[in-house]
Amino acid sequence: MTQYDAVILGGGPAGMASAMELSRKGKRTAIIEKASMVGGLAKTFEFQETSGTYRTDIGPHRFFSKNKYLYDFIEDLLKEKWIKVNRLTRFYVDGKFYFYPVRLGNVLTQMGPIRAVRALIDYLFARLRRRIWPKEIRSFEDYAVTTFGRTLAEFNMLNYTEKIWGIPCSEISRDWALQRIGGLSVWSTLKKMIFKKSGPKSLVDSFYYPEFGSGTIYEAIAERIRQKGSDVLVSSEPTRIRWQGNRVTAVDVKTPDGEKTFEAPAYVCSIPITQTVKLMDPAPPKELVEAVSGLRFRAQVYLFLTVNKEQISPDNWVYFPNKNIPFGRISEMKNFSKQMSPPGKTSLFVEYFCFEGDKIWNMSKGDLFDLTITHLDQLGFLKKEEVLSIHHFKQQHVYPIYDLEYKNRIETVMKWLDGFENFYVIGRPGRFRYTNQDHSLEMGILAAQSILDGKRRDVEEVGNEKEYFERGYIPEEDQATS
Ligand SMILES: Cc1cc2nc3c(=O)[nH]c(=O)nc-3n(C[C@H](O)[C@H](O)[C@H](O)COP(=O)(O)OP(=O)(O)OC[C@H]3O[C@@H](n4cnc5c(N)ncnc54)[C@H](O)[C@@H]3O)c2cc1C
Repeated sequence: MTQYDAVILGGGPAGMASAMELSRKGKRTAIIEKASMVGGLAKTFEFQETSGTYRTDIGPHRFFSKNKYLYDFIEDLLKEKWIKVNRLTRFYVDGKFYFYPVRLGNVLTQMGPIRAVRALIDYLFARLRRRIWPKEIRSFEDYAVTTFGRTLAEFNMLNYTEKIWGIPCSEISRDWALQRIGGLSVWSTLKKMIFKKSGPKSLVDSFYYPEFGSGTIYEAIAERIRQKGSDVLVSSEPTRIRWQGNRVTAVDVKTPDGEKTFEAPAYVCSIPITQTVKLMDPAPPKELVEAVSGLRFRAQVYLFLTVNKEQISPDNWVYFPNKNIPFGRISEMKNFSKQMSPPGKTSLFVEYFCFEGDKIWNMSKGDLFDLTITHLDQLGFLKKEEVLSIHHFKQQHVYPIYDLEYKNRIETVMKWLDGFENFYVIGRPGRFRYTNQDHSLEMGILAAQSILDGKRRDVEEVGNEKEYFERGYIPEEDQATS
């Protein structure tokens, strides 16, 4: 039997980073990945068509972080195939396009004077009310309305958030508001609009992107670690996580070559927490099983359209908060890197938010395309005859749902799982934390460092900054231009 220093469940950014960090210190790992390729939600698909090669992430993945270590980590893997992209994002609200980050002239002309005055009055009223009659902030809605006033909150925060989560904003925990829009205020937005160069440096306007898609980071890791003697088992999944006392002792795995048992001194787990608990053998205490049963994930369905056109729009992303448009976001991969489509052609990635088993999840490719193209045509993006081919795929466990009860539930579960001395639970589905790629990478690296020196790092601290999340580290050479 091969001797491994660690067994890693899940080959997404968190698991792969862990393996890379361990491999750098000469440790051998076995990665167990259910999908046929590594990269998790940050993987990149490649489609060979008669017009050439098209690539897409599962929704384009820009990279930004506060942590310089991560930039060096990725640069070491990708070398010069790591480019800087200027960001263009727009929101389509009530029939009009708005830029993000917000531009004063654009907002005033598009919003119209009546709505702008209403927004200002609502905002001042919300501030006054907060001073004289402070209300307990429990939900996303409480936070958004108290901070921005009802008109601005409804403008592009509440609708879009409900589209993502599939539950009313009054049932979404305020934690999500603190993570997503905490530190953002009307005043800071106005300051940024008026004095463009003022305020702390931010990565909102530009970001880094791997030239051939975000998945190349994880494919590069797989190649490097294999060269150093580690194994990456794809299309494989654990069937049992065996434990005794406060140690995990073995993992049984279903692989394309049959059942195998893996034993190692340490285990890193980044698969969905709901599955981890089910796989534990013997079964965990009843209250834990009960706590995990109330945790839910939101899923997504995607259409990736290859297009017989030079460019659809200059946007990286366009968001659609209004409910009368069924999809939530579109993106053109070519605007991230020219390598994502062949010359003279482009593509469009369309994201739907849904629950596993609902109407959108079950819709056939043809019906979903008809629904999508009708809206894209009306919006002026794309005509049916310009579409070369349609790719349709689905993804489970995309967004951990932060409802009003999730925190108590997750605390119960994590307390038990973090109690194992050789079991490191990390990542977005793993810890039920809405992390970006950088936070998952960081958790993976911390788990590896914990294994290497035997001192357990607190991965809960990752991404816990009380600042607006889009502020980040800027590599030195970019500081003059940002
Ligand atoms: C549409 C979209 C856009 C995004 N955009 C950005 C962006 O612009 N920038 C950014 O930084 N982040 C972005 N993200 C977030 C980013 O993708 C995630 O933060 C990151 O992928 C999380 O990594 P992870 O390893 O924690 O989890 P995952 O990526 O979910 O990886 C978990 C892995 O475990 C595997 N797995 C699941 N169950 C099992 C099992 N039973 N056995 C074995 N393996 C299993 C999965 O197949 C997967 O490979 C985006 C996400 C989405 C969905």
